[in-house]
Amino acid sequence: MLEVIRADITTLTVDAIVNAANSSLLGGGGVDGAIHRAAGPDLLHECRLLGGCKTGDAKLTKAYRLPTRFIVHTVGPVWRGGGHGEADVLASCYRRSLDVAADAGARSIAFPCISTGIYGYPLEAAADIAITTLTAHARFADFERVICCCFSEADVRVYTERIAAIGSR
Ligand code: ADP
Repeated sequence: MLEVIRADITTLTVDAIVNAANSSLLGGGGVDGAIHRAAGPDLLHECRLLGGCKTGDAKLTKAYRLPTRFIVHTVGPVWRGGGHGEADVLASCYRRSLDVAADAGARSIAFPCISTGIYGYPLEAAADIAITTLTAHARFADFERVICCCFSEADVRVYTERIAAIGSR
């Protein structure tokens, strides 16, 4: 049910893509920068009206020039060694993103590897949280497709390996 692909998330024709944003929602580097560049300036205008987003929460916008219908902006934790509630916050990002997208009527959604870039979350641990949180959440059943969109082949290998490991527990 969980798909793992390698892609630039801005190219995907799914109902919703998730943005690993920062709490200002006013754009940044990494996937956030790529999404704002591809969506165009109207996205920033809508984001300004949202008044930011708390860490672990998610907010919806339209997708403007992107082929998707919605963008779900979620704010992951900055990795500070693992003892500051990072895992709970990251799990909350995945749950809240599913909630917000499902409430908007999305039936397909793609997630980047939230927090594993500039925010420094170790990829294997983050992949475990993504996999277990998404598949355990009640709203997972509202979707026909839930995609983990990796930006590198190395990330695809980690996700594939972790799905196999978790599945055989
Ligand atoms: P964070 O600040 O949450 O760590 P980043 O954008 O720095 O967010 O990184 C999150 C993940 O998004 C990383 O795995 C990075 O390689 C990936 N990424 C960057 N650009 C894209 C893109 N265009 N499509 C999909 N994933 C991307």
